[in-house]
Formats: sequence, structure tokens, C-alpha cells
Amino acid sequence: MNDTAATLDATDPLASFRQEFHLPPGPDGQPCAYFCGNSLGLLPRAARAAVEREFASWEERGVEGHFLGASPWMHYHSTLAEATARLVGARPLEVVVMNNLTVNLHLLLVSFYRPTATRYKVLMEGGAFPSDQYALESQARLHGLNPDDVIVELVPRPGEHTLRTADIETKIAELGDSLATVIIGGVNYYTGQAFDMAAITKAGHAVGAFVGFDLAHAAGNLELHLHDWDVDFACWCTYKYLNSGPGGTSGVFVHERFAERPDLVRLAGWWGHDASERFKMKKGFRPMPGAAGWQLSNAQIFPMAIHAASLDIVERAGGMPALRRKSEQLTARLESHIRALNLPAAKLEIITPTDPAQRGCQLSVLVHERGRELFDFLADQGVIADWREPNVIRLAPVPLYNSFADVDRVGEALTRFFS
Ligand SMILES: *Cc1c(COP(=O)(O)O)cnc(C)c1O
Repeated sequence: MNDTAATLDATDPLASFRQEFHLPPGPDGQPCAYFCGNSLGLLPRAARAAVEREFASWEERGVEGHFLGASPWMHYHSTLAEATARLVGARPLEVVVMNNLTVNLHLLLVSFYRPTATRYKVLMEGGAFPSDQYALESQARLHGLNPDDVIVELVPRPGEHTLRTADIETKIAELGDSLATVIIGGVNYYTGQAFDMAAITKAGHAVGAFVGFDLAHAAGNLELHLHDWDVDFACWCTYKYLNSGPGGTSGVFVHERFAERPDLVRLAGWWGHDASERFKMKKGFRPMPGAAGWQLSNAQIFPMAIHAASLDIVERAGGMPALRRKSEQLTARLESHIRALNLPAAKLEIITPTDPAQRGCQLSVLVHERGRELFDFLADQGVIADWREPNVIRLAPVPLYNSFADVDRVGEALTRFFS
């Protein structure tokens, strides 16, 4: 930490983006140090005007808004495809924005979890986000199977907090022909561990399984190359690192190799039907090529308008490579502040991997003593972190709106607490 936060902020090429967000006030009325972008990203100033434009279109045009205006609602989802594809390293055909995350996870599993008498296992990370656990349990039951027979959970070795890629690969090889689908969070929400998605996909394909990722904590956080990694399917929410508002819309990826596979079993709706004859209202579902063929309903214009404004910010900032460069610096600085406390692991330890390639921006701190007290102390100092039972504090410095001064503010608060 040779440079001061002031120097780093003054030379930060992304510094001006902080002004594009509303920073909630802390207890002293000054902007808080917001480290909760992994739970709910902040409100972009452009979001309100983006929604107002759609209100205006509705007000002035009524139903004609589907066909007229700058972004007619009828084709709204396709206006997001290019930026979404760049965000996750995909081709525009491979992505679509629709619904919410858990809904999309189910829709994708209908297509990519097709158990047979011998190939019916699902591999997940142990302690996956509860919604993903419930989704998989219910998918097993949907096929008349017992979730306990279906779901195999990966757990860290004794004394370790995170998973080793080699152990994941070994488990996949062991399951072999019995493995139907691998579904893992790209970044684990609790530990902050980022998985080697290319290696996991390769291992899964080697035994003939489908491989998908829940990218809730990875989209907008990591550089992703879903197409090149050969991932089969993925979905993510847009309200965490993508700042698109509570309950915001969700993104979906389906690899190009399935783009022209109308035979793939799926739950269908009119918005996934061949657009050229959608309004002929004919019998017989014929999906659009690509991820768009998984759509059910007409697009949710208001959440998508916010998302369009948010994606525009990411693009203007230079996309994920630029965000990731600053992100690694912020997280490294946060990590050195915590290490400088010199506390024994019995008191406090960082459970997120130290290797930047194995984490996103978040650091998860396991606080063995006085955890809740520390969390409340941080809040009193205007540091908004996030508490996970039983005793983990998650801190996520986000490159679009967090400054190096914010990171130092956490460091100073921690020092005061422990001195
Ligand atoms: C945040 C999160 C969810 C939330 O699901 P919603 O359907 O958006 O409510 C699901 N899975 C993971 C891994 C998450 O991090």
C-alpha cells in the first residue's frame, strides 16, 4: 500500500462513474461506504429517466408503444442482446434477458436436466444459495426422483473453506456415466470463491454431462467467456453487480450448439415462438433460434429499461476488462487492511481465496468472536457490509462506485474496533 487512497482515486480512470450512482447517506448524513453491491447494487442516476421514457411512450401511444418509439416493446429484449453478449463473453444469439433468476434456472433445467434410469445425478457445490438448492430438489421430484439420490454436493476438505478444482474434476470423473448435470455458482455467494468454469465444463463434458452455472455473483463481477469455455447454459440476476434494481430482470445463456435444436424439451410460451409468425396465433410451437427461444412472456419493459441503462454504464466504463482491473486493486487493498490487523485465525480469518483468479471482488471474513458487534460497529461508522449467519461478514468493493478512500474507511474502522 505505497500509494495513498487519494492518489489512487485521482488517477483512477473509472473515478467519474461514482457520480453516476446515488450513494445512500450514512449515520452522519454523508455518503456511506457501500460494500453491499453483491446483495443489491446501487441506483444509477440514469435509471429514472430510462423508466420515464417508457412511461412517456405508454402515456402517448398506448398499445402502439409495442411498435413505435425509440425502442418498440415488441423487440425490446433483442435491443439488450449485444451488450449482454459482451458482458458474459457470448454471441448475441446465445443470450436473452427475461424473467427472474430462479425462474430461469428452472426453465433451463427443464431442458438441461433430463434424467434417465442410469444417468440422473446432479453435482452442485455444498451450501449453494438456498434458492438453487430448492430448485434442484424440486426438479428431482418433478422427474419422480428422490432429491437425496439425485443431488451430490461438493464440500471442502477438512480444515479448508473452499473447493479445489482438482477435487471437483475427480468427483465428476467418479460420477461418470451417472452424472446428468453439473450446476455450480460461478462465484459462491458465501465464500466468494470463483470457480474455474472452463475446467469444470471440460470435465463435465468428458463424462457426457451438461454443465451450467448460476452467475448471480459472477455477472458484472468477473470477466466471463461462456462461449469459449463451452458452457452449456447459465443464468444470472441483474440486481447485484449489475445495478438493475430490486427484483430486476435476469439474463440467460444457452450455447450456440443448441440454437437450432427445436427438439430440446422446454417449457414454451408465445414470446419464444418464431417472431415472424408469432401473431398468426397458430397451433404448434416453433421456437426462435438461440436463447430467445426459451422466452415465455412478452418483455417486462420497466425492469428491462433500468437494466438497459445499467448495461450502458458498463459499456461506457470499458466493459468487464476495465472494471476487473480496478476491482482487483480494490480487493487487494481491502485484503491488506485486514491482514494488517494481525489477528490470529482463531479470531478472524478471510475465507475467500487469496489468488485473484479464484475470487471476484468480495471478501468473506469469518469472525469467530464479537462478529455481530463488529458488523454493527461498521454500520455506525457508515460502512454498509453484509452479515451472513452464523458469523460471516461479506465486503464487496465495486469498481463502478467504490473509491480507494472507501476501502481505507473500512480499514480504519476495523483498526479502531480491534485496538
Ligand atoms: C441472489 C441469488 C439468487 C436469487 O434468486 P432470485 O430468483 O433472483 O430471487 C439465486 N441464486 C444465487 C446463487 C444468488 O446469489
